[in-house]
Amino acid sequence: MGPFPKFLRLNTLIISAFVLWGIAALVAAPWWVYALVLLMLLTIAYFGTTQIASNFHLPAYCKAVHSDKKEIAITFDDGVLNPIQSNLVLDILKQYEVPATFFCIGKNLASNEQIQVLKRMDAEGHIIGNHSFSHANLFDFFSSKRVVQEILDTDKLIQQHLNKQPLFFRPPYGITTPNIAKAMRQVEHQTIGWSLRSLDTVIKEENRLLKRVKKKLKKGSILLFHDHLEFLPRFLPLFLDYLLKEGYTVVGLDQLLQLQAYKKTQ
Ligand SMILES: [Zn+2]
Repeated sequence: MGPFPKFLRLNTLIISAFVLWGIAALVAAPWWVYALVLLMLLTIAYFGTTQIASNFHLPAYCKAVHSDKKEIAITFDDGVLNPIQSNLVLDILKQYEVPATFFCIGKNLASNEQIQVLKRMDAEGHIIGNHSFSHANLFDFFSSKRVVQEILDTDKLIQQHLNKQPLFFRPPYGITTPNIAKAMRQVEHQTIGWSLRSLDTVIKEENRLLKRVKKKLKKGSILLFHDHLEFLPRFLPLFLDYLLKEGYTVVGLDQLLQLQAYKKTQ
């Protein structure tokens, strides 16, 4: 799903619903007209909340600014959940000389092994993004204050180990809410989504995943994977060979979006 039209935002949606209910009251419409308006409102709000590319609650970067070149960016979420698997992924990226972005979770940057992987990602030229501290199931119900705290806590950890302050944030599950939008305005990070959700956590088999990704790949795509998955080191060489054959170049997310990945240090 792409972005909703610019006029379709939460406030305009609620105002339109009241206007429609007002008209319904004036013409003494039957009860189901009110229900229909409510159903439409809820449906649009549901898709706006669950589809990050809709830009319903906040603007999110989900594909290249200019998608005329055969360039794409690769992102991995939820690190560093499994340092052994992440190292295998890093080995392959190094072999193919391909840059990636890793959206790490604060609570997964605790052990020595996890920190070593974080440092290796950075040292090998990959970008580190913020993917919240807890990645809690109920993250989308958090207050804006709590969301801000989660982002700052993870920023602090990354800063402590890499001496860099990340500017890219990807909300857990790609869910956005008015509270997350408010928090993002406060911390002044860029919200990063994706245009191609690989569904690697569901598919879990390299050939089927390759088939899906091939079908959905476009110029300027931002792809979403998870580096902790056991089968991913078998998938990546197949995928990267395919990209080479088709003439695609993998670029950093900062280059694809023409944005700074880290805060400039004074
Ligand atoms: Zn995640």
